[in-house]
Amino acid sequence: MKLIIVGHGMVGHKFLECLAEAGTQNLEVTVLCEEPRPAYDRVHLSEFFAGKSAEDLSLVPAGFFEQNNNMLLRLNARAVSIDRAARTVTVSTGETLSYDKLILATGSYPFVPPVPGKDRKDCFVYRTIEDLEAMQECGARGKRGVVIGGGLLGLECAKALRDMGLETHVVEFAPR
Ligand SMILES: Cc1cc2nc3c(=O)[nH]c(=O)nc-3n(C[C@H](O)[C@H](O)[C@H](O)COP(=O)(O)OP(=O)(O)OC[C@H]3O[C@@H](n4cnc5c(N)ncnc54)[C@H](O)[C@@H]3O)c2cc1C
Repeated sequence: MKLIIVGHGMVGHKFLECLAEAGTQNLEVTVLCEEPRPAYDRVHLSEFFAGKSAEDLSLVPAGFFEQNNNMLLRLNARAVSIDRAARTVTVSTGETLSYDKLILATGSYPFVPPVPGKDRKDCFVYRTIEDLEAMQECGARGKRGVVIGGGLLGLECAKALRDMGLETHVVEFAPR
């Protein structure tokens, strides 16, 4: 049976671990991961600013895919369309892959309020290691940082900006 998993985040990888434990060698598994690196601990993403590397945050033990050679991880591979009648997935690389079962483990995206200017240079969301790398690069040439949203992640981000030596502001529409 051919299985395609779209998304190699925290859930996608947990699913692979469960498959490996269950000893499902008869499955041919392809994992489509739009990010350039295997699954990492997004919950502890802010620790990247405190010096943890992408490798430290990785959820994938060394040798995992070698030991489970019925599982193929495709990095930088975004699923762009699904044809359920034909049971195929088209990938951003242009290939079309067939499946018997398809798992969508695509997580969620940050909500960005529809405010004018949100797509301008040096505006970021807080979701991936690449987002944090871009913030670090921007912080190194900037003086002031503004975080929209004063929830848990907003405040974690604000601390990171302050630690970078930026004058830091948090904009929050709630009264506290
Ligand atoms: C900074 C931060 C801090 C957090 N802190 C906490 C916390 O303290 N506690 C807590 O419980 N939760 C926390 N969360 C939320 C937690 O990270 C998510 O609940 C968890 O990552 C969800 O796992 P997931 O596998 O469903 O999604 P994700 O980990 O987001 O993985 C989904 C993956 O699918 C990929 N993908 C999406 N679409 C496609 C496509 N079309 N083709 C290929 N790949 C695709 C995405 O790029 C991503 O790599 C935090 C999130 C962030 C961003």
